[in-house]
Amino acid sequence: MAQYQLASQAAHASLCLVDDHTSGVFSDLLSYDEAVASIRSHVNCLNRRANRPVSESLGLAIAADLFSPTDNPLFDNSAVDGYAVSSDSDAVEGRVLVIEGSNAAGESAGNLIAPGTARRILTGAPTPTNTYGIVMQENTEVTGGAIRLLASTSVGAHIRRRGSDFRTGDCLLPVGSVIGPGQAAVLAFAGCTVANVFLPPKVSVVTTGDELVDPSEEPSGPMIRDTNSVMLSAQVKAATARSPRVRRVSDRMDMFCQVLAKEAGVSDVILVAGGASVGDRDLLETAMKQMGIVIFHGVSMRPGKPFLFGKLGNALVFGLPGNPASAFVCFEIFVRAALRSLGGWRSPEINWIHLPAGFVHPAVGREDFVRVVYNSGKLQVTREQGSFGLASLATAHALARFPAEQSTVNGQLCPVLIL
Ligand code: AMP
Ligand code: MG
Repeated sequence: MAQYQLASQAAHASLCLVDDHTSGVFSDLLSYDEAVASIRSHVNCLNRRANRPVSESLGLAIAADLFSPTDNPLFDNSAVDGYAVSSDSDAVEGRVLVIEGSNAAGESAGNLIAPGTARRILTGAPTPTNTYGIVMQENTEVTGGAIRLLASTSVGAHIRRRGSDFRTGDCLLPVGSVIGPGQAAVLAFAGCTVANVFLPPKVSVVTTGDELVDPSEEPSGPMIRDTNSVMLSAQVKAATARSPRVRRVSDRMDMFCQVLAKEAGVSDVILVAGGASVGDRDLLETAMKQMGIVIFHGVSMRPGKPFLFGKLGNALVFGLPGNPASAFVCFEIFVRAALRSLGGWRSPEINWIHLPAGFVHPAVGREDFVRVVYNSGKLQVTREQGSFGLASLATAHALARFPAEQSTVNGQLCPVLIL
């Protein structure tokens, strides 16, 4: 029987659902949405700031609004290679104009354009102040030192106006914007080579299991390579732009607790992979009850039912099932958003979009997260979906989410998280 109990750590006391370990089964599981809401209620921006070169800040959130110091474009300039003309009468089809002067990007606009003449102008060049419009060179015929217009051009044609993109003082990047290539471009425009950013959370990945050997080793007999440490490190690095600490520990309670206590002292987040279920060698729940608090244990979902969330000192602890596909999925749908929140992201939540299923999905009584590929406009299930499955982690484009109690028909739209 599940019991509701008040968590013991006074500062973080909360009503939590704790599974009865002795029964060896989960009951009264949280739904996925309830689990996400619970995590969200315990996660806030860490608010650690630093000035960092933009080139070393990809994937980090900026800690202050960025306002534009200037207009963009900075000055009126040409959008095309062509000829600038100075009046409507010089802009009509058939008109012949003498070419006088030329302006290229990086050169100043020069003199006014005289009536009856055209100024050669290249893309990005400042336009003379009396420019009526620009005739694209494709719409001209050049003979000697003159052009003939093959088409009329209209007032303002092909002029990129000063401030038409944004103006001095406009907010270009609100606080919490994550620096990617586009944001880096905006920062560069504003002259910011160093950005004030939120530092990402410090994360520890702890894998546990007597059967695990390092991926560099040859596993013998019943041993297997520890794939989770590598996979989760990569997921953490992708989510936070910082590599986690990695520890591997056997299924011995004393050593396991020692490692957890050490990591809680140095990290903001501990991801424990393995030992999260309710088997004899599953140490996490017992260790967490002894040393910290269990906020919830068990979610009505597949894979990932043994997922655990708790706190150890100031560290958030995410207990991921040891099966690689389960650990992978739990990271994507629970941990990623939490790491982003801690790192000050403005929109930390993962995005579910809707795509049509290319198969029938019968309800399985738990929410089902299926590794899928998107081909020819429809989702298809990848091969092995068992939680031990590895191959699909390398081929899946997305996770599709199916409700616990309603079946999904072929062609029906379903929520999908692009990986
Ligand atoms: P557990 O959650 O500890 O009961 O483990 C569930 C399954 O995942 C078992 O088959 C384990 O051998 C396997 N497993 C646990 N940890 C890892 C790991 N780090 N890498 C690969 N497989 C693992
Ligand atoms: Mg284990």
